[in-house]
Amino acid sequence: MKNTTYKLDSKVMKWLACDEPDDGEEEADEFFANWLENVEDRNDLIVIDKILVDPSVLKAHFDCVPERCAPWTERGRFRSCCADIYVSIEKEEIAKLKKKHRVLSAHLLKTEPRLKKLLNSSNGKKNEFFLDEDGDALCRPAGRCVFSLMDKQARLRCRLYTVAKKEKVDITDIQPYTCRIFPLVIIQLDRGRVLLTVLDKKNYKAFESYPPSRFPCLSDSRLPPLVKSMSKTLDWLFGKGFAKELQKRA
Ligand code: SF4
Repeated sequence: MKNTTYKLDSKVMKWLACDEPDDGEEEADEFFANWLENVEDRNDLIVIDKILVDPSVLKAHFDCVPERCAPWTERGRFRSCCADIYVSIEKEEIAKLKKKHRVLSAHLLKTEPRLKKLLNSSNGKKNEFFLDEDGDALCRPAGRCVFSLMDKQARLRCRLYTVAKKEKVDITDIQPYTCRIFPLVIIQLDRGRVLLTVLDKKNYKAFESYPPSRFPCLSDSRLPPLVKSMSKTLDWLFGKGFAKELQKRA
């Protein structure tokens, strides 16, 4: 019998509440509405306090495998979260990154020649250098996220980890939540409930994503179960011990 109450981190809850529907593709919106209706009607959801967990979270295998991601012509059909996913970003997340503007731009100027022009011309511009033209998503100069690092073997990593370490702050204090939780998806329901799911072949269209088979980190059953590889993220999201509680329900 468990004696802890698990609930979604309050900052993440606030972030979800700001995540207003954009003027995305009508088809995707409709797909999302139908998918959600079907999920809520299912009787196989795992219920932990006010958290409804899609069983596909327990079935998923996931780990970061940068040596197999795009962009790299030899990687054929494979895509990468840091090159191919549209990372929308809310006002509070922009504010957190803005606070680190000086250190971020100094780090990127030193390490990313592709950004030199962008950084030098960003002074006085309405949008921060890391935002796209609409100002509501991270920009992707040269086909990958402004904060991504590509090493000599074309492996992509996130530079925000280095900056967080240098600044002695938690990665959550600067990295957008979309990245922090990928490939998990959290949806706010009524009565304070949330749905936890994962990008899978049944729902990817609802999120205007590529199918999981295109992501090497999500399409290989030899990778560890997601509940293990993402246990820290799950505990951060819902409270210490949540990942273990979920594993018990497997
Ligand atoms: S912020 Fe980091 S994790 Fe997110 S897309 Fe950019 S490089 Fe990848």
